[in-house]
Amino acid sequence: MLKEIKVSSRSRSQMVDITRNVQEIVTESEVKNGVCYIFVPHTTAGITINENADPSVVADILHETDKIVPWEDGYKHIEGNSAAHIKASMMGFSQTVFVENGRLVLGTWQGIYLCEFDGPRTRKVLVKVLAEK
Ligand code: ZN
Repeated sequence: MLKEIKVSSRSRSQMVDITRNVQEIVTESEVKNGVCYIFVPHTTAGITINENADPSVVADILHETDKIVPWEDGYKHIEGNSAAHIKASMMGFSQTVFVENGRLVLGTWQGIYLCEFDGPRTRKVLVKVLAEK
């Protein structure tokens, strides 16, 4: 079954840790062993996996992506949010995480992040958990 998580951001660029929300869906699915697919159906928000222990890592990622892709740079896209489109593509729009014994298989310091680049707003994250045979 396709499940949905709603994620609200408070600023233009923000990485929101959704690991707990995804784990809840895995738990509710009652899948013990399989894969969890996570997909973001947006063009200016992406998804990534990175450190959730030290919040400075997320701050550094956002700081550096802002430098690499500045908000204003003579872009052609008339909507004025080309930087958000580019940064979302840099992060990508999906992740796959293994499920073992009903738990997401993530490294000790890893978390799953919705990466908002054109907030604040509310986004959808789609999650599907498949069981192995
Ligand atoms: Zn746009």
